Amino acid sequence: MLRLYDTRARAVVPITAGQPGHLKVYACGPTVYRDAHLGNLRTFLLPDLIRRIASHSRLQVTVVQNITDVGHMLDDTGLGGDGAGSDAGQLGEDRMLQAAGEGGDALRIARHYEAQFRADCDLLGINAPTASPRASESISAMVDVVQRLLQAGHAYVGADGSVFFDARSFPGYGAISGNRLEDLRPGHRFDGATDPSKRFHADWALWKAAPATRTQLVWDTPFGRGFPGWHIECTAMLLDHLGEQVDIHTGGIDLRFPHHEDERAQTESVVGHEVVRHWVHAEHLLFEGRKMSKSAGNVVLMSDVVARGLSPRAVRLAFLEQHYRSQVDLSWDSIAAADRLLKRWRALASKADATMQSTTAAYAADIVSAIADAFCDDLDTAAAIRLLRTVERSDASDALKGAVLLACEPLLGLGLDRAEAAADVQVPADVASLLAQRAVARAAKQWSESDRLREEILGSGWVVTDTADGQQVSPSQP
Ligand SMILES: [Zn+2]
Repeated sequence: MLRLYDTRARAVVPITAGQPGHLKVYACGPTVYRDAHLGNLRTFLLPDLIRRIASHSRLQVTVVQNITDVGHMLDDTGLGGDGAGSDAGQLGEDRMLQAAGEGGDALRIARHYEAQFRADCDLLGINAPTASPRASESISAMVDVVQRLLQAGHAYVGADGSVFFDARSFPGYGAISGNRLEDLRPGHRFDGATDPSKRFHADWALWKAAPATRTQLVWDTPFGRGFPGWHIECTAMLLDHLGEQVDIHTGGIDLRFPHHEDERAQTESVVGHEVVRHWVHAEHLLFEGRKMSKSAGNVVLMSDVVARGLSPRAVRLAFLEQHYRSQVDLSWDSIAAADRLLKRWRALASKADATMQSTTAAYAADIVSAIADAFCDDLDTAAAIRLLRTVERSDASDALKGAVLLACEPLLGLGLDRAEAAADVQVPADVASLLAQRAVARAAKQWSESDRLREEILGSGWVVTDTADGQQVSPSQP
């Protein structure tokens, strides 16, 4: 049985699906105003690992991951951070509009980075979520939640026309992070400057009234023209897509507070009971000793990894070699070492004996079972990789070692099978990006854009074909 560290319970607990046989996971998704760096991407590996081990355990898994394409998220916390759990930002800054620049189209920018994000996830072997709702397309669900909170007396309209959540109306505040409401001081950590429109310093905006100068990312609603607060989008999309019982909610460690605390208060206040059974958080990534962040100047993108001739899946392997709750300290040396290990394992996998004898098949099944046990033990991927290193060093035949590695591939996601390994090496990052943009266009039924991207991909020397399993590419010149 899968066991995970539940931040609220402060213990490793058994995970059972509330609805038998069906695990429901909500993952805080990316904020799409710039490229996701490796630290952000590590956070998104967490729901992928959960899905892989749950599927292995024959559970149906639904993963919903929001796309934050409404650029408000820094206003109402004063702490900065985004859906991926990254840098601290400045109060009142609107990064989405800032990224669009004067006269730029904010949603067009958002679509570009969303496609790039999807391409990066594909390179890392992170499977697409079951659903990826966009904040900008979920406004009516948010408006509905805000109205229900107003009716129930959990929210009020402030002096500036914004709608605020009344923090003191939710007695369970602080259960995830341990930050009790009475200990939060105005101007101290929680909120850079107390907004005079609020009744209480720890209240937060559900809906922000827009200044007349704001022309993009604003919506007309029963409570005026404005845009949503950050936390409300996760409450609305979680309830909309998963219903009133969710087994696991994931996110980066810095989303514990205030994002998840505020989200939980809203969600439970609107439905009247506990919705999320388990909160699971991934630690920060360090790079060469410091937290990966723009301000530290050590941001590494997937394109940087590709540019150095390293396999993107080597990054995944480097992540798997550490526990998701430890602060992995990555370096170019450690990624290069993982790349060498990956090459050896792919070479072994290519020698796998497809027609295994019953004794060797039993050996492979035992190893798969041990790997699954490690995953079930709070995703102890480090133990899983150590075990496979032991197999590699054993005196078993290469054919057997390869068969074992291939059998573990569905849990590992390292692209050890030849087809994926080939794709991983050969498809350049810019083509992968175009493919991801085309997938987004097709999902939105934008057929002319899809055709245009097909031509652009062809111009880069690749032929794309649409199959039941999605897009497949091959070089246009054999
Ligand atoms: Zn969220």
